[in-house]
Amino acid sequence: MVVLVNAPMFRLCGSHNDRAPLSLCYMSRYLKKAGIDHTVLNADATRTKTYWKWERLYENFQMFKDAVDGNSSLYYELAEQIVDLKPDTVIVGSGDIILSYVCLGNPYSGANLASVLKKAGIKRVLGFGQYVTMWEKWKSYKGYDGILINGPSEKIVDVVCGDNKGVIDLGRFEPNVIPNFDDLVPSNQTSDVVISSVGCKFRCEFCLARKLMPDMKFANVDLFLDDVESRNKKKIFIGDTIFTIDKNRLMEICRRKEERKMNFEFVCESRVDTLTDEVCVTLKKMGCVAVKIGVESVSQVALEGMGKKTDREKCNTAVVLLKKHGIGIIVYAMLGGPGCTNETVEETYNWIKSIEPDWVVVSVWSDDLGSDPKYDAHFNPTGLKKWDVDESWFFKMLELRKNSDVSKVSNLIG
Ligand code: SF4
Repeated sequence: MVVLVNAPMFRLCGSHNDRAPLSLCYMSRYLKKAGIDHTVLNADATRTKTYWKWERLYENFQMFKDAVDGNSSLYYELAEQIVDLKPDTVIVGSGDIILSYVCLGNPYSGANLASVLKKAGIKRVLGFGQYVTMWEKWKSYKGYDGILINGPSEKIVDVVCGDNKGVIDLGRFEPNVIPNFDDLVPSNQTSDVVISSVGCKFRCEFCLARKLMPDMKFANVDLFLDDVESRNKKKIFIGDTIFTIDKNRLMEICRRKEERKMNFEFVCESRVDTLTDEVCVTLKKMGCVAVKIGVESVSQVALEGMGKKTDREKCNTAVVLLKKHGIGIIVYAMLGGPGCTNETVEETYNWIKSIEPDWVVVSVWSDDLGSDPKYDAHFNPTGLKKWDVDESWFFKMLELRKNSDVSKVSNLIG
């Protein structure tokens, strides 16, 4: 018996996240195909429909810090649940590799859970996910018998059938299968994130995607549509880093969707400089109700600090095009980072207010890609202090969120 567990993150500060952990569900597909008995336990899910607001997570940050430092009874409760399943191997995931920008995690949460599982007598505990892949320190961490770097891939079958320990490289993920949601605990988690590609060729300084998957891999168009069909949902979230990166492929997806007479609406991610009139026509025709655009800031100095390689003009053009085609707008806004000041935040705040978006995803510059992301979180007050950004901006940005229909399309908007 194998347990794949998604370590808690939001439950550490009084909320939860019912989004199925996509990388573990891909891993689950490889195990299922090989007939290996397993369960995917999402330790961040509670199946509760009510969520605290982002503001509350910010205010509960001390609870999160305590848990990251190991002071949380949740690790012990989870160990009880896992021991009950009598696994030989437990794989602890912290932070999704495929959706690093959507499914958040914390490396210490995974490691704390792993060491409690070892104390509880689990034979083999392996670490997996963005953090064990990226931070050398976990290679020698005693709580893990081994760590799985990269992946997910079908190599997981050999790993669980053998008794390998230490560092095991699963190799790069290939989007060539459909994830399995049938072995998830709790059942009926949100499973509306579908991907048609992974990775990103851009190099924004704050983004984990650039480190985890520096080149892009594309799924076969029909496999992607098969995946959408298998979810049996009228509304999905396309989790590709930049769904609009290849105009011709987008048109091919649109054509095949029509030929297959598929009927679904979606929200997707995009970069402002990939949105053209033709791309927006295709998106609209395909059933796109909103695009999440990575604006982050409209200040040139802040954009340069991020290595974003966009500018205010490109942001304006994207907004005009999306509005022209009646597509909703979800803006990513970043607080903190080199070049970010209260003045650049104010400039960005005024711009966002003027375009009246449907929703704003507000992040505090979090992952310190060079050192240790111990207390990093996108709702992180210490991050604001570090960059000398007044915390009132965090709350003012959040006030720009409208409770429009677009925000209800998917609970993945953040
Ligand atoms: S373009 Fe988007 S996904 Fe790519 S590195 Fe920048 S923020 Fe990350």
